[in-house]
Amino acid sequence: MTKDFRFDGATFTRGSDGYEAARSATVWNARTPERYPELIVQAVSERDVATAVRLAGAEGMSVGIRAGGHSWAGSHVRDGGLLLDVSRLRDTTIDAEGMRATVQPGAPGSETMQALIDQDRFFPGGHCVGVCFGGYLLQGGFGWNGRVHGPACMSVEAIDAVTADGEQIRASETENADLFWAARGSGPGFFAAVTRFHLRIYEAPEVTANAVYTYPLEELEAVFEWAAEIGPEVPRFMELMLFIHRDQAGEVEVAVTGPVLAATEAEAAAALALLETCPVRDRAKLAVPRVDVGLADLYAGVHANYPDDHRYCVDNMWTHAPVAELLPGLERIAATIPSAPSHMLWMNWGDSPERPDMAYSVEDETYIACYGIWADPADDRRYGDWATDNMRAMEAAASGIQLADENLRNRPARFVTEANLARLDEVRAKWDPDGRFHSWLGRP
Ligand SMILES: Cc1cc2nc3c(=O)[nH]c(=O)nc-3n(C[C@H](O)[C@H](O)[C@H](O)COP(=O)(O)OP(=O)(O)OC[C@H]3O[C@@H](n4cnc5c(N)ncnc54)[C@H](O)[C@@H]3O)c2cc1C
Repeated sequence: MTKDFRFDGATFTRGSDGYEAARSATVWNARTPERYPELIVQAVSERDVATAVRLAGAEGMSVGIRAGGHSWAGSHVRDGGLLLDVSRLRDTTIDAEGMRATVQPGAPGSETMQALIDQDRFFPGGHCVGVCFGGYLLQGGFGWNGRVHGPACMSVEAIDAVTADGEQIRASETENADLFWAARGSGPGFFAAVTRFHLRIYEAPEVTANAVYTYPLEELEAVFEWAAEIGPEVPRFMELMLFIHRDQAGEVEVAVTGPVLAATEAEAAAALALLETCPVRDRAKLAVPRVDVGLADLYAGVHANYPDDHRYCVDNMWTHAPVAELLPGLERIAATIPSAPSHMLWMNWGDSPERPDMAYSVEDETYIACYGIWADPADDRRYGDWATDNMRAMEAAASGIQLADENLRNRPARFVTEANLARLDEVRAKWDPDGRFHSWLGRP
């Protein structure tokens, strides 16, 4: 490294001691992709980020960026070029009075959420421990109370970023507005290195509670029909979710949960009562109509479905198709689902605040995602295509995908509108004319 490109953090060239540990540590999914960058830079300062981008420019290298490493596909790990690891940039500031916060890309959403709750404030951070703001906010962000506040990127007011020419700039509605437009929804295809997000924050909900029901597989159609029917009545502060998964004995079942993060006790109680209206309620194997929980319990509950150090294949779709049309696909998923904690998630998403003009632009009434999860590398062949195959089988009913759970390398799919994709290409050509930053995996 010449003195023009000196870093405060560590660097690893391919083949050097520590390179492989540094590379595989960038991916949370235990299936680290077989792709090998030439240089890994572990940035510890904003200056390191700018230096890395300038070095890449000088050497003609492309740049992949890792924040929390929770991209299932390991989108930041590419062959050749520079892998810029910004996970050590984790500073968070909170202005509780001014209802504003700033976060660096490596800040885990769950930690920031706890700091906010301690000050009676809230942000729609991701549902799992460890998901960091870098990738989460760029792709949209489907977090706690996501239907109350919209995808989390709606609450981003500005970003600080290093552009392809190595300059540190701010982008907002009024400054560099086209880059800001792209930052809210382009996800792993964004073309600048974000060093800080400026966020609007909210009052913390007064009441947090949940309910859990499980039904035998024979009731799959009845439970999904009912959930689709009540979906439009479900208040924004309740996240109605259905799961197809295996119980402890290995039997496939349908689970229903409805976390509420409500402003009043009366609202919470009315929302939870909706879950008692299932026409096959008397067939429930388990019924817990209400459990009062803290946010930490909600995080722990979700995280139990996504164990660390496991191997994952994930794919997804948005849809507004009726259950009758989805049923063959749902039954196929139930018939082929790998062992626990693999699962299919069905999430009620309709009715939510009006969206501003931003790159994020594809969503629908219902979200479906398949998460294949296993521990033994020997099972890669057996389970590695389960999610992709099932989402491919249901493609005719899909209106697009979330970038949160993208699998574009294996199954290209629509993730923003055609008009926004064309505009993203134009804005990229202006800000990153030499293609310094990688585009979406699977798209040249
Ligand atoms: C266990 C688990 C639970 C999840 N739960 C949720 C959830 O509840 N809601 C939800 O919406 N999503 C969820 N996700 C998906 C997650 O939000 C996305 O994978 C997101 O990209 C993760 O952000 P990250 O910073 O941790 O990931 P990374 O893998 O580090 O980043 C993903 C991509 O974002 C880009 N990027 C990251 N940082 C920067 C930066 N500073 N500048 C420019 N580009 C950058 C890069 O292109 C990178 O490839 C979950 C994922 C996992 C593994």
